[in-house]
Amino acid sequence: MECDVCVWGGTVLTMDGQFSLHDPGYVAVRDGVIVGVGAIGGAGMGADGRLGAPARSRADATHGAARGAPGNASSSASGSAPDCGGWRARETVDARGTIVMPGYVNTHTHISMSPFRGAKEDSKDRLTRFIFPLEKRMVRPELVYDGALFTIAEMVRSGTTCFADMYYFEEEVGRAAARAGVRALVGETIVDFAAPDATAPYEGIARAERLVEEWRGHPLVRGIIAPHAPYTVDAEHLRAIADLAEKLDAAVMMHIAEMDFEHARFSAEHGSVLRYLDTTGILSPRLIAAHMLYLDDADIELAATRGIAIAHCPGSNAKSGRPISPAWRLGEAGAPVGLGTDGPLSGNTMDMQTVVSLYPKLQKVREGRRDLVSARDALIAATKGGARVLGLDGQIGSIEPGKAADLQIIDLDDFNTLPAHDWYSAAVYSLQAHNVRDTMVAGSFVMRNRKLRFADEAELKKRLLFHAHQSSGLIESLLAEGR
Ligand SMILES: [Zn+2]
Repeated sequence: MECDVCVWGGTVLTMDGQFSLHDPGYVAVRDGVIVGVGAIGGAGMGADGRLGAPARSRADATHGAARGAPGNASSSASGSAPDCGGWRARETVDARGTIVMPGYVNTHTHISMSPFRGAKEDSKDRLTRFIFPLEKRMVRPELVYDGALFTIAEMVRSGTTCFADMYYFEEEVGRAAARAGVRALVGETIVDFAAPDATAPYEGIARAERLVEEWRGHPLVRGIIAPHAPYTVDAEHLRAIADLAEKLDAAVMMHIAEMDFEHARFSAEHGSVLRYLDTTGILSPRLIAAHMLYLDDADIELAATRGIAIAHCPGSNAKSGRPISPAWRLGEAGAPVGLGTDGPLSGNTMDMQTVVSLYPKLQKVREGRRDLVSARDALIAATKGGARVLGLDGQIGSIEPGKAADLQIIDLDDFNTLPAHDWYSAAVYSLQAHNVRDTMVAGSFVMRNRKLRFADEAELKKRLLFHAHQSSGLIESLLAEGR
């Protein structure tokens, strides 16, 4: 049996339905697809999905034997010779002393906003005073492309292999993702006012339709439709967008129940934001609902009944002093729940490692219970759950034969990582972005040994700082105008 790449010797957290864990294990990849995964020395699971008798694979193991350093983890592998479970690989990747797990799926971002990151934090009315005017004057295709490519670098370096984005000139985000070789859903934003890329209200609808058609059939990038929010897109246009999504067979992403004024406005007439949206036909399994903060029990039921998917962004919500989303309750009710960083202005780091650790912490605080959202549950939300939210769970989200080889390889030889008594707990609570050594999408490394494969790092930083300097000048003049 031949394959292109074999990653061997690491602890493989598959995140499959049985939480199969191979320690040490291998992952064999051919034509971008996982063809074999299993324990080294055991039969493992073959390309035909046949479950063999893996010697050191455990369906329910979490115990990491308090180790994880190179040398220790490799002790049961045969010396330094690659062991790929019978696969003959053209390239072997020594993963001893690492965790090999699915790449993170970031379900809600605005990655091109990176030139504005950190501007006017903690100021009241930041969005209307600074961000909207800044975007109006600054957001051009070049900034969107450069900002996107820069942020993709940050995401790749922290183990993310797939993201769902919404912004203006979103075709540029698609171009950046395609160049980098990462997986993305790119959503053209629709608003009821003239936007940086639209001279008239709702021009985004036609742009979104073009975007979806333009990327149809691309192996990594898919276009989606992104109405901004219930308070910036009216009911009539939401109905039209729901029909368009059906016609195009496209996903829809929208900010929902995020703002206090939005909650007050729609609750007055309809009882809640979600019950209002239910009158527009937008609530369907096509919908990726970002945030979902102001919900009552009836809304949680409604979300589950309509099959909408949740992009939960605990970091950005906490930073804006908003309520904690009932994300755990939504999951319990049956709604798919994934995690997102939100944009660089709201979430700051685009590092899913931060978010995957915040998710259980904030849910435990919200519910006053220690025993919910286990480390496993959190890791599922950041991988397979996110894939389900984006409608990609048949393709990515776990390490199983037949799925695309979207992986991250995390080096455990560091002060924040040792020991690993429990692999899932280590992955969720101990790891940091800098521990990620390699990132692979569809069988190709986009980062190898911490070096990006798709762009010159100095050039990415130079381009970003060019846009950042321009925006900082503008912010100062906005401040002066406001005085
Ligand atoms: Zn957002």
